[in-house]
Amino acid sequence: MSTPTPQRLPGRARPRKEVLGECEAEVARMRERLPQVLWAFVIPDLALVFRWRVQLDCGCVLEVLTREDETPPHEVQWQEHAHGSDLPHGQMICWHDDSPAPPYRVIDEWGERREVTFPADPVEPRDDTDPKVWSLIRHDEPHTSAFWRVKLACGHSEEAVAPSLDWTPASGPHRADPQRVQQMSAEFEEAWRTNPELQTQRDREHTRRMLADGWPSPQLERLCYTCPQVRMIMAYERVGWLVPRPRKTETRARVTPRPSRSALERRLQRAEAEAKHLRAELDQLE
Ligand SMILES: [Zn+2]
Ligand SMILES: [Zn+2]
Repeated sequence: MSTPTPQRLPGRARPRKEVLGECEAEVARMRERLPQVLWAFVIPDLALVFRWRVQLDCGCVLEVLTREDETPPHEVQWQEHAHGSDLPHGQMICWHDDSPAPPYRVIDEWGERREVTFPADPVEPRDDTDPKVWSLIRHDEPHTSAFWRVKLACGHSEEAVAPSLDWTPASGPHRADPQRVQQMSAEFEEAWRTNPELQTQRDREHTRRMLADGWPSPQLERLCYTCPQVRMIMAYERVGWLVPRPRKTETRARVTPRPSRSALERRLQRAEAEAKHLRAELDQLE
């Protein structure tokens, strides 16, 4: 894919004062929420904020803000909203309701771990779960699970649940007994045959890969909810500073242009002639 270039994009930027008003309101909210010692580190200096417009590969044109104007928007690492993790360079989220379903992606890296404790499940089944199924899967005691932040092959982040609290990536996945896997394969094939709606094509292929890999736990792939909503920045336009500043071009125009070599030589000749003349006058006085 070619590097995005600065160009005139369709449509117009929003009125600057409107954007500035929103930013000032956000800064005021942050001041209310955060202790004063943090302000200098967390609250952006609006005088340094630069406005851009970007065109994405979904066709949408969005306005974005960066600190200073040296880094064009496709070189900034924007964040996705669910986990606040950095997207690969050149990508931004643009939510479309008709985006495709999330795809399965292979887990490349296991990152940070956190534990979450859940209260005991209610005795009554949730949603429309069959009461018999519910009695088998419900937790009648509070329980704790370990969640790991994982990096997927597409470059996006998700969370995956570990099979147990003491599991670490070094332990590797645990695989089911081969005979049991064979039995499960037959059971799934039968279930899909009798109920074609049981799983979508995507989930069925995922199940087949799991079975072919010996039913690993934890699973080695994860649905990526970012992929369907992520877009590439195709082009961008400089809009200007959020807070107007004196234009550099005007300052430069007022400065006297640098003289050429020949002009300097002529000035030197005149100065030397003048010096010679003054020395002759001095001689005469003496
Ligand atoms: Zn879009
Ligand atoms: Zn992804």
